[in-house]
Amino acid sequence: MGYAHLDRPVQFLKGVGPKRADIFKKLTIGTARDLLYHVPRRYDDASTILPVARLEVGMDATALGRVRSRGVIPTRSRLRIFQAVLEDESGMITCAWPGQPWLERKIREGDRILVTGPVKFFHGRQLHPREFTVVSRAGKEEEEEKARGSAGAIFTTYPSTDEIPQWVLRRVFEENLDWLLEHAGEEEVFPAEVLDPLGLPGIAEAFRRLHRPETLQAAEEGRRRLAFDELFFLQLIHALVRWRETEREPGIRFQRTNALIRPLHESLPFRLTGAQVRVLQEIYEDMTSPRRMTRFLQGDVGAGKTLVALFAMLLAVESGHQAALMAPTELLAEQHALKIRSMVEELELPVALLTGSLDARARAETLEGLREGRIPLVVGTHALIQEGVVFRQLGLAVVDEQHRFGVRQRMALGDRASGAPAGKGADGARGKGSDPLPRPDVLVMSATPIPRSLALTLYGDLDLSLLDELPPGRTPVTTLLRRPEQRDEVYAGLEKELAAGRQGYIVYPLVEESEKSDLRAATQEHARLSQEVFPHRRVGLLHGKLSGEEKEGVMKAFREGELDLLVATTVVEVGIDVSNATVMVIEHAERFGLSQLHQLRGRVGRGAERSWCILVAEGGDVARERLQVLAGTTDGFEIARQDLRLRGQGDLFGAQQHGRDPLLRFADLSRDEALLLEARTLARKVVESDPELEAPAHEAIRRHLELRHRERLEMWKVG
Ligand code: ADP
Ligand code: MG
Repeated sequence: MGYAHLDRPVQFLKGVGPKRADIFKKLTIGTARDLLYHVPRRYDDASTILPVARLEVGMDATALGRVRSRGVIPTRSRLRIFQAVLEDESGMITCAWPGQPWLERKIREGDRILVTGPVKFFHGRQLHPREFTVVSRAGKEEEEEKARGSAGAIFTTYPSTDEIPQWVLRRVFEENLDWLLEHAGEEEVFPAEVLDPLGLPGIAEAFRRLHRPETLQAAEEGRRRLAFDELFFLQLIHALVRWRETEREPGIRFQRTNALIRPLHESLPFRLTGAQVRVLQEIYEDMTSPRRMTRFLQGDVGAGKTLVALFAMLLAVESGHQAALMAPTELLAEQHALKIRSMVEELELPVALLTGSLDARARAETLEGLREGRIPLVVGTHALIQEGVVFRQLGLAVVDEQHRFGVRQRMALGDRASGAPAGKGADGARGKGSDPLPRPDVLVMSATPIPRSLALTLYGDLDLSLLDELPPGRTPVTTLLRRPEQRDEVYAGLEKELAAGRQGYIVYPLVEESEKSDLRAATQEHARLSQEVFPHRRVGLLHGKLSGEEKEGVMKAFREGELDLLVATTVVEVGIDVSNATVMVIEHAERFGLSQLHQLRGRVGRGAERSWCILVAEGGDVARERLQVLAGTTDGFEIARQDLRLRGQGDLFGAQQHGRDPLLRFADLSRDEALLLEARTLARKVVESDPELEAPAHEAIRRHLELRHRERLEMWKVG
């Protein structure tokens, strides 16, 4: 591989040196390439930067000028105000930062600063900056002149820190940008034939537009190109994983006999929805083909995913295989087992439950049954993927993901497939010790609908199936937004339902980091509610710190109507299905994501009675507007889109992938779906034609993948 200029350590760039290079490292800038990718975080159109003479009281404005004088002014209320007089060719204006005397150390006389904020009247016009940037340092006029000469009509602001302030970054870029852009072409991985039809600039041009845009539009075009690259490499990894999981080795070709599928069909007291029929067709087709299925099933709350999964499991079983369903918690595994047992009652199929709380004897028995193939269906927790669990012939692994399993665990049940590792004694049950059995098909189910762009990003290695239709005859849940002061009214409404013989939930948020205090909240509230508010009602308490047995006890009591009201943390979020429950009160609703609230709301409205979801929320208009989305629609996919738009992808990734770094700096999943689809199509085309990326045409892609996406490759264990 040839020497790349962009590999040059920043230390050897102009104006950097060893000391600054150390500081740059903290911004994860180690090489010239890193610097090139350190693009401005903000662009100001020069036409929106006003001459200070034109600033008027009442405006929200951006101005750029030199600090003529500055100082801290004490006031009678002991509030200390930092003030700076800003001057440009047109005149002067005072900028004031009440309560921030320390700025005296940051802003010096002679500095050129960019300020944005409201213009107020206070002994004349005064700008109160929300944001400011020291654009160039006093006494460095020379560089500044250069900077002004090369800058276009757009003013750029780089991401900076206290240690590498804006003016240092600007100088470093001024001195090195020409050189960086000259070599930016080294980063190119696509030929013009690929880029042109997509309307994307070449990589060097994209960097130029990002660092030195003539217009805001140009900067956006530069961003799109880098976003495309990010999305492409992400989809490329997905495509490689997909190839490894589904194409490299043959899968199981299931034989559909209908011996089990038909009786289940006939025993159902309802018709399948159109979406269920369509999705089952997709699944059956995959399963009966020689290719291994790895599929992601998304559906709204109550859309009937479990039933779809059960049909798929029965196809595996009637074809002579075993099927397993893995749930993220014991409570859920138990619920699934109950539900499935009741649905297959007439088929007389044994359904085993394997969780961590089985006693030694029950566990040994279950393991033996799985090993010998006597147990066709098993539901469990991650206990299913632990050492010692061996299937005779696992054909289908269903993973009820609920966003709690990581990527590796997701596929671990599928890898279980090949049975016992050789030489561990149990492989005798697996036949002649010849070829390993094909790995089982995998069906991943997600409880909460997520937008397509996010689904393709998180689960791009899987094929997507969408259950976007609810069974008919459901009354939509009425959703109300209430303030904490209205709590008595909320309790009165709840009491009315309880008096009519129905049941209800009151849910408190549980944020993992502060689990203890939240737990106290639910526990204390339980005491208060059961003693003071609803002394004549039977009030239960459910939270994650109860043992499996205790939880099951509480749930059983609630299911069987021995409890009227269930005070709970978010453990009720998923799977719990009590059709007599008609009220869901959610406290501190402002602390939940919309999708999570939607999921919680799905716990009511499961029967024929009218149901209510009452969101008790603090906070201002913005927080309440967000919650209003939920009151306005019951479409989980729409809610997820809004959630993505309002909260941003970082949060979604955080919530769903345990803070895993999304590595998406340029792409915005709420805006770039079309771009993502293009990236995905291209990535799949590349892998289909050249799964090992050996072709000379893919050399740059492969190098870039290894160089810049190592972490991700590692995570997916490909390459
Ligand atoms: P999900 O897991 O998608 O939230 P479930 O599979 O738990 O939904 O289904 C919710 C309820 O709807 C269950 O009681 C199930 O038996 C029922 N159900 C599933 N499919 C249908 C259908 N086509 N018509 C009516 N009810 C259905
Ligand atoms: Mg198959």
